[in-house]
Amino acid sequence: KNKGRNGFSFFQPSMNIIAQNQRQLINDLWMAQDNGELRLFYQPKFRAPDGPVVGFEALLRWQHPQRGLLTPDVFLPLAEKTGLIISIGNWVINEACRQLRVWHLQGNTRWSVAVNLSALQFEQTGLVETVIKALSTHQIPAELLTLEVTETTAMRDPDESIRILTQLTELGVKASIDDFGTGYSSLLYLKRLPASELKIDRAFVKELQEQTEDATIVSAIVALAQTLNLKVVAEGVETPEQQQFLTSLGCNTLQGYLLGRPLAADKVPELADFFTADKPEEVAENTPVQ
Ligand code: C2E
Ligand code: MG
Ligand code: MG
Ligand code: MG
Repeated sequence: KNKGRNGFSFFQPSMNIIAQNQRQLINDLWMAQDNGELRLFYQPKFRAPDGPVVGFEALLRWQHPQRGLLTPDVFLPLAEKTGLIISIGNWVINEACRQLRVWHLQGNTRWSVAVNLSALQFEQTGLVETVIKALSTHQIPAELLTLEVTETTAMRDPDESIRILTQLTELGVKASIDDFGTGYSSLLYLKRLPASELKIDRAFVKELQEQTEDATIVSAIVALAQTLNLKVVAEGVETPEQQQFLTSLGCNTLQGYLLGRPLAADKVPELADFFTADKPEEVAENTPVQ
């Protein structure tokens, strides 16, 4: 099998360098999981405006032997195109639960974790079983796991999404609608989706200022979420102005580089010391977590 693939990499004058590069990356991705090169980083979510930490989002990274630490934009499209996302995604669910268990045993029993699902993974028949297995293997209470699906994925086949999310939320798992505002939600379906959270897409946060269209959109999303009894998370918070404004608009939870970057798992417990509910104020303000 391997030889067959290598056969392709002999020089062919017509071969586009980019295509060859992609092909090599796909070959590498096939082995990345077995070679233990996949990692989860964890980005904290804070109760607005500045804590405590209410949970973490698991974000996939690939420690490539030659190319270094890769972010999902480089390899996720390939994982989706090849179907590898299913086994990688299953690994992510299990690994996030395993890590959460480690933190719980260290005393952080209220921490929770959110995992991103790609469209293919969301629609795959074994998803519910994978989730049940990961929760039971690592003894994680279901309500401490959140599954994030993008608005676009959720609205692709709304009836099917309602069915899948109902199965998942009946386990006690929470559902979050990611990158909200960039897709085309039918409000009728949004009302019926058993989600507990909307995440406002970073695009609306980026240039957020008072009296702008983005501010109006964020207010409208917050109002919609309140009507539907959903929490609102703002992602991509990078400045104190955004932090303050989003809080004043009614976002319950904030996530972004200002408050905390995605961290390797072993760096996360240091956060606990900074962001407990009764931390001194000056620590909150002067100690950005890197
Ligand atoms: P997402 O779920 O919307 O995650 C938020 C992305 O924004 C992350 O990028 C995060 O590192 C980045 N981010 C957070 N705060 C800030 C900020 O203040 N400024 C800026 N500029 N960016 C910020 P990342 O880790 O590169 O992930 C990109 C996307 O890849 C994610 O978007 C998610 O859709 C997908 N993804 C990540 N991990 C997984 C995974 O395990 N499985 C699947 N299926 N998709 C994943
Ligand atoms: Mg997400
Ligand atoms: Mg998002
Ligand atoms: Mg995104």
